[in-house]
Amino acid sequence: MTMRQTHRLFRRSRLQLALWYSLVMGSILSLASLVVYHSIVQANWAAMEQEVESIAGTLHDSLEPQLPTTGNPTVVLQQILPDLCLVGQPCTITTTLIERHTTGISDRALYYIRLFDHHGQLLAFSPNQPVPLLQTLSSTDWQTIKTANGVRYRQFTTTLHRLDGHHLAGHSHDSWGYLQIGRTLTTLDAATVRLQWILGLGFPLTMLLVVLSSWWLSGLAIQPIYQSYQQQQQFTANAAHELRSPLASLLATVEAISRLSLSEQDMLSTMLNTVERQGRRLSHLINDLLLLSNLEQNKNSTLFQPCCLNDLVNDLTEEFLELAIAADIKLTGTISESLIQVLGDEPQLYRLLSNVLTNAIHYTPSGGTVQISLKQHNHLALITVQDSGIGISAQDLPRIFERFYRANSDRSRKTGGTGLGLAIAQAIAHHHQGHITVKSTSEQGSVFTLHLPC
Ligand code: ADP
Repeated sequence: MTMRQTHRLFRRSRLQLALWYSLVMGSILSLASLVVYHSIVQANWAAMEQEVESIAGTLHDSLEPQLPTTGNPTVVLQQILPDLCLVGQPCTITTTLIERHTTGISDRALYYIRLFDHHGQLLAFSPNQPVPLLQTLSSTDWQTIKTANGVRYRQFTTTLHRLDGHHLAGHSHDSWGYLQIGRTLTTLDAATVRLQWILGLGFPLTMLLVVLSSWWLSGLAIQPIYQSYQQQQQFTANAAHELRSPLASLLATVEAISRLSLSEQDMLSTMLNTVERQGRRLSHLINDLLLLSNLEQNKNSTLFQPCCLNDLVNDLTEEFLELAIAADIKLTGTISESLIQVLGDEPQLYRLLSNVLTNAIHYTPSGGTVQISLKQHNHLALITVQDSGIGISAQDLPRIFERFYRANSDRSRKTGGTGLGLAIAQAIAHHHQGHITVKSTSEQGSVFTLHLPC
């Protein structure tokens, strides 16, 4: 895949991720705002009805004892409720009864009341009642009315009873009549409209924010995947490059062998030696790559067994002594007297330390020193490999654990290193829940420390 295609693929994935995220967030938000909207409207409505009902109750209780039992009710009504207009008489009243009977209502213009007899005939009404009201009584307690100019009213009807309990001639029931109280829904409707506006404007704005943040978040999510993808690509390219040169040299040697004349037969063994060396180098490289890939897939961690680090470091020091002497380097080991054990894979730990030790010897000029030491600090086993060698420059230091990275490629290649040594060492350390740290200054030697949990 070309760079461009990769870029396009990742961009498309990011877009899809952002779209899905917006969709899910959008649905959740719509649902939540719908629920909130409904519960606010419902709560307002319930509060309003409760208010109407309680005013009706107060009025009902103060009216009932004064109701006339006989005679023309209109005459008596006018006496007890002078603030109501009577049906069939001119209405000149300006104040309302509600003001006197119910305290705590801030706006008396919100309410109107009406009185009916037990036949449902309108007897009296407050002057601010909406114009096109029915003159007859409806059968239900609660009603919503809408006037021609769009104002809505909610009205409540309650029965007024006779208190004396006598059944008068001609009256076969004990209800005196009905009290009706209505309230405009203007404020309630205005609040609902306001809420709709807030949601109507707020929702697209919030969605815009959701879309923007989705794009940003999906970018964040894609970033590490993109990076690791690029690293993988880089690794493949590096590996191919590393394999190419020994392979090319191997093929060239084979070709030269095939062209050897009889007189040159004595060169054959040298050339075959080269073939063997290159072949070994290739096989070594491939083994390293396989080991790295196995370590990264975290295989075989079940094979961990207790390993005695004292023995391990002892063996290593002995083994590398020969190499050190050959390079004219003084190799010393300082090992803690108490036994230090870790759970791990011994061959792997051996491999780790031998990689670090090999480097220490390779990158230390003759006459130098290499010290290996083992000690315990709290719950950590610390193995330090210190050399007096060429050191590592500050700019190379953060990169030496990368696969195929070589600080000084000419020199490193000559030492036979593949550039995978420290990458493998670090992978093994991670595999054992440990890590390797390094301190180094150019020309002043390096200290590699392996930290392993005991
Ligand atoms: P190589 O196989 O080339 O040694 P490594 O992964 O083992 O690869 O090391 C990476 C690079 O780190 C080396 O090429 C070298 O430049 C640097 N390096 C590692 N160990 C030391 C050391 N003890 N002293 C100086 N440089 C070192």
